Amino acid sequence: MRIARYTTGDEPLYGVVGGEDGSEIVATLVGDPLYAGIELTGQQLALAEARLLAPVIPRSKVVGIGRNYAAHADELGHELPTEPLVFLKPNTSVVGPFDPIVYPAQSSEVHFEGELAVVIARICRDVPTDRWKDVVFGYTVGNDVTARDLQETDGQWARAKGFDSFCPLGPWIETDLDPTDVAITTELNGAVKQQGRTSLMLYDIPTVISYITSFMTLLPGDVILTGTPAGVGPMRPGDDVAVTVEGIGTLTNKVVPRD
Ligand code: ZN
Repeated sequence: MRIARYTTGDEPLYGVVGGEDGSEIVATLVGDPLYAGIELTGQQLALAEARLLAPVIPRSKVVGIGRNYAAHADELGHELPTEPLVFLKPNTSVVGPFDPIVYPAQSSEVHFEGELAVVIARICRDVPTDRWKDVVFGYTVGNDVTARDLQETDGQWARAKGFDSFCPLGPWIETDLDPTDVAITTELNGAVKQQGRTSLMLYDIPTVISYITSFMTLLPGDVILTGTPAGVGPMRPGDDVAVTVEGIGTLTNKVVPRD
């Protein structure tokens, strides 16, 4: 099931997306499915009449996994981590499909990082690897936008990865995906820059969830960005960046200058 968050001009609504590609229909839900479950109002509209929003606003945090693909660690000249490398992005960095990524004045090297994002279903701590599915609501597409120059000079990554608009998520949450071996593709202005498969993760999703929850509680709506494959690179104002995860969809954003 595809669950979108959208607006037609007023308050954000939630809906189930169905129908053929290019002529999708949204069936409106009574409330936030993370809390209210899947209950339809009976109303429907064409997806084209809705503006998609980030499918989830993380209740407390976006947890990132760094250097989780060997070829990406290698391209940045880093050793492979001996445990999952965990960082945080603030929930204020989240934006939705087609929202602008604002190029900050403090950086001159802003990179795209196309990633599979995991949406957490329930409050959880100390999740064993064989229970990981119990705490997953679904999957969406993420772009872990990173000011690469600040990441190197700051040491801590809060600024480099935490600017407003540096965490596009969308276009919707797919609840039925098998995430173990799906393709991740990032295109910049239509040219393919990243092509990877989730089967190449150093630490798979069960391991990552178990590791994170060994030291912090995850809340419903929290998001895990599972790492980026090789091929990261710079974006400039005016660029269009599109991340596609097989079985979910495509997340497109435009980079704009800070005004
Ligand atoms: Zn990343």
